[in-house]
Amino acid sequence: ILARHGHDGTRLMQILREAQEAEGWLSPALLTEIARAVGRPRAEVEGTAAFYSFFHTRPRGKYCVLWSDNITDRMLGNRELLKALCSKLWLEPGRLSEDGLVSVNTTSCTGMCDQGPAVLVNYRAITRMTMERVDAMAELIRNQVPLAEWPAEWFAVEDNVRRADILLSSRFEPGSALRAAVARASADGLVASNDRSVRESLPHGLVGPTALLDEIRLSNLRGRGGAGFSTRLKWEACRNAPLKEGQTRIVICNADEGEPGTFKDRVLLTSHADLVFEGMTVAAYAVGATRGFVYLRGEYRYLLEPLQEVLARRRAAGLLGRNILGIPGADFDIEVHLGAGAYICGEESALIESLEGKPGRPRIRPPFPVTHGYLEQPTIVNNVETFACAALIALKGGEWFATIGTRQSTGTKILSVSGDVERPGLYEYPFGVSVAEVLQDCGVTNCIQAVQVSGPSGVCIGQDELDRKIGFEDIPTAGALMVFDCTRDMFDVAHNFAHFFAHESCGFCTPCRVGTQIVARLMDKLASGHGSPYDINEMFKMHRLMQGASHCGLGNTACNPMIDTLTKFKPAYERRLKSLDFVPGFDLDAALSQARQMTGRDDAAAHLAGTD
Ligand code: SF4
Repeated sequence: ILARHGHDGTRLMQILREAQEAEGWLSPALLTEIARAVGRPRAEVEGTAAFYSFFHTRPRGKYCVLWSDNITDRMLGNRELLKALCSKLWLEPGRLSEDGLVSVNTTSCTGMCDQGPAVLVNYRAITRMTMERVDAMAELIRNQVPLAEWPAEWFAVEDNVRRADILLSSRFEPGSALRAAVARASADGLVASNDRSVRESLPHGLVGPTALLDEIRLSNLRGRGGAGFSTRLKWEACRNAPLKEGQTRIVICNADEGEPGTFKDRVLLTSHADLVFEGMTVAAYAVGATRGFVYLRGEYRYLLEPLQEVLARRRAAGLLGRNILGIPGADFDIEVHLGAGAYICGEESALIESLEGKPGRPRIRPPFPVTHGYLEQPTIVNNVETFACAALIALKGGEWFATIGTRQSTGTKILSVSGDVERPGLYEYPFGVSVAEVLQDCGVTNCIQAVQVSGPSGVCIGQDELDRKIGFEDIPTAGALMVFDCTRDMFDVAHNFAHFFAHESCGFCTPCRVGTQIVARLMDKLASGHGSPYDINEMFKMHRLMQGASHCGLGNTACNPMIDTLTKFKPAYERRLKSLDFVPGFDLDAALSQARQMTGRDDAAAHLAGTD
């Protein structure tokens, strides 16, 4: 493994993953060996291993079962199934079985909300879990049947494309967008691939990126990750960033879609990988990059080999590698880097840290990745869907793209719809579609109480807001729509999200590290019926504090679900309030019982109520 990765410390994540897949876990001896081989301090290697929830620095058992624990999985009964599996295997959630065979636990959303309840077994996704499957799974584990011999249909992941537009219906011929880009540059008088002086005046010998950037400008393409930053500005900034000796420019595809409720990138990479890779190559052509990465979330481990096959095909067809399309100096290649279960790596600078083999903690900015990104080189990081759009723009032109959608939000948006709908799955619409229209297409049988748009950090809209529009003018979104009908308790939704953020905080800054824990505890307290208005005030206070003082978007938005639901669904909280006075979060007198036992005292004065 080490030799294959050239003993390169920047490839630490992949080395750790492959070592764990081979050995079962990352033992102290293994970490020492890896640290020595890559020339990094052992503490640094252990720090990286300990940061990611899919790396195990303690024995994990032959079978590691992780239940996806998004609110939509809960609505589909994942908790009952988890309990049933644990009872059949005679073990407690989160504990390794006595014989070291199996552990069962929960993990954050695994990107299968349209076909849950979902589970990862040794990081392989299994969808549509039922009680029958739980029975069979327990049997397979008890008999130590290798995963490769488990029923193949369990591992089937469906695309569930319900409404396709320009992206999901595209029958894309690999290489066509690149050829169109080059032809356009040629018409622009910029391609002179045999003219050395022209080639050398352009980054990395690539020819004619100006015409392509013009098309991107005309298209008004904005990032599909949610923030909506102008793609042209990002690409131009990267292209204009000076290079130091030995540096290159880098293109990164952010496929770490960890936002609960989002699964569109899964489908784009499953069925439209060529379109995405072509978009990355087009971007490389525009900015003058020679190296590209796809940062694939660890939950999509099953996509690694298929994606590598597509890349190999593209290399064989001359669409990746050296002298792409026969243009001398047009060199660009892509590798897939697998994440390891850290939601924060969806943030671009944390993602770059992770790519460099470090814990995925967001960087202090500026400088921005466009000038100082991967290994301090100019880097663009774009969403999977953004690259897919870029390929179509290169092929069909910016004006064509700009005719779709609205003025500020051109093109289409792929929405991942889950929850209380008849047909969960992917729905692609021109921007400007209303939430009500989407719900109509999804098949809603019950009355709608709320729709959580853009995951826990997004916005929760109520019944009276369903005419709001998807787009940067109204509701910008990376694409998740979780639907809750009138039978759902919106407190439970917010409670689930509070724990999600507490689990996913990277711990770098105190307001978020401590704040997310405090908020999760406050929600636990309310859930157990011990809450008071004091706790709700505390939640608002934490929101203000974290919003102003957190280092990155996770901390800034972590209280959004509580504040949204408190504002719009107050009765869900009020019916849980025990009294109007402050009530401590735990029973202090009961906590002192052990001390009373040890001292042999149980008189009235030894109880809190008995003291002054
Ligand atoms: Fe990490 Fe949270 Fe701080 Fe972001 S806000 S850097 S996730 S601790």
